[in-house]
Amino acid sequence: MNINESGWRPERPIDGDKVGPGAKTFTGNRALMLEEPLIFEIGGADTTGVDLPEPRNLDSDRLGGLARTTPIGLPGLSEPETVRHYTRLSRQNYAIDLGLFPLGSCTMKHNPRLNEKVARLPDFADIHPLAPISTVQGALGVIHELGEWLKALTGMTAGAMSPKAGAHGELCGLLAIRAALEAQGDARRVVLVPRSAHGTNPATAAFCGFEVEEIPANADGRFDLAALKARIGPDVAAVMITNPNTCGLFERDFRAAADAVHAAGGYVYCDGANFNAIVGRVRPGELGVDAMHINLHKTFSTPHGGGGPGSGPVVFSDALAPYAPLPFVEQTAEGFLLIEEETAGRNHAESFGRMTAFHGQMGMFTRALAYILSHGADGLRQVSGDAVLNANYILRSLEDVLDAPFAASGPCMHEALFSDRNFGEGISTLDVAKALIDEGFHPMTVYFPLVVHGAMLVEPTETESKASLDQFLGAMRQIAQRARLGDQTLKCCPLEAPRRRLDETLAARQPRLVWQGL
Ligand SMILES: *Cc1c(COP(=O)(O)O)cnc(C)c1O
Repeated sequence: MNINESGWRPERPIDGDKVGPGAKTFTGNRALMLEEPLIFEIGGADTTGVDLPEPRNLDSDRLGGLARTTPIGLPGLSEPETVRHYTRLSRQNYAIDLGLFPLGSCTMKHNPRLNEKVARLPDFADIHPLAPISTVQGALGVIHELGEWLKALTGMTAGAMSPKAGAHGELCGLLAIRAALEAQGDARRVVLVPRSAHGTNPATAAFCGFEVEEIPANADGRFDLAALKARIGPDVAAVMITNPNTCGLFERDFRAAADAVHAAGGYVYCDGANFNAIVGRVRPGELGVDAMHINLHKTFSTPHGGGGPGSGPVVFSDALAPYAPLPFVEQTAEGFLLIEEETAGRNHAESFGRMTAFHGQMGMFTRALAYILSHGADGLRQVSGDAVLNANYILRSLEDVLDAPFAASGPCMHEALFSDRNFGEGISTLDVAKALIDEGFHPMTVYFPLVVHGAMLVEPTETESKASLDQFLGAMRQIAQRARLGDQTLKCCPLEAPRRRLDETLAARQPRLVWQGL
């Protein structure tokens, strides 16, 4: 039977290869691996999932000609068709609840279910940001207590809870620095960023109107203190340094750099996205930090990925505290108070303004506080110890089969960095990443940081057992051997996934969103 004439979903060519996955069965499904067309292919614009009555008394004049006159062509699907479509798609996804997620810099750790239970309590989940203060004392208490924990863990004196992601936190920190400089009538314009910085750092500085200048890295993977000191001058507004850095190393010269920047009248921003490696062990405030964001969605669990919710609270030193954004929560004898622009008897004219309309990501706050309280201070200290132990286990277990450029720089922190140096002719980092998909793992972070050629950055996190690390290492060792030997079949991976390798440039530039037939 020609399945394409059956009226059933047509078999789709994979990479132009009609014998690939999906071709062997009538439906294209392979047991529990279900093929899924685009929603536009299942539902048509001429069908409808809901019947709505024609609107009555529609005053099209009042809509000022904005009323739609032609249908927009959305596919109509019944409720079960819609549910099945998205459930099938979700099964083609990888998630931390399916297996080890080695994505470096992202801290993909297990999110304890307790967090979810707490975040769903109606008193936190179903309140409105404009509800009277007296009715949301518990929620304000959560925001306040989490802020106190973040200040204590970082050794800083003030906080802003509203930034909604790490990059948003960077913007918050730099806006405070800019406000402080403006208050001093100082027009410094340069922000120094080490070459190994996360891409968001220079992007944030540029977005904030600063000029970005790069500080080179030295051979052991850390920023070059001498080069930094040589560049510091009266035009330097701030440095932005990630610590531990994106090579997975602790920046030993951080305090010396901070002192030099302060002596020249500048400020020190620390990208704290990698706090998971040092939480409970290092208080960045003691290293001379003026502002630092914390990714609640990394260090303090909470589900993330796929653009899903983040939260990037910022902590400040005394020097920047007056310029921090509004609103913030204060504990008084009468209860929790929300300090805003118009709070009676208070003047926050120095604050640079607001990052968001309201308080930030309440769901992330409850999850992060649940995580912190269930671990306690000693448990958080163990988190960083175990995260570093697991990363060093990865580093030392693979350094004989993969080039580890900074293996001699001492123990790594929370992530292990490898390069493509030992690969055989024609084999690239991308091939290794694709081969990991066949082994049932999400690939590690690739081609980042830029200071290492063909970089592979692996962050196992503390929540992986030795058994699961060993399984990952077994897969990695086998793929690394094939890469060294120049095994060209690696270039065909993934062979077992629902889709083969895409032309990534074409897929990004000209996504084919509608099935155009065979
Ligand atoms: C994740 C990360 C960021 C950005 O955080 P988002 O929440 O993704 O905006 C910044 N710096 C480093 C080092 C990171 O790992």
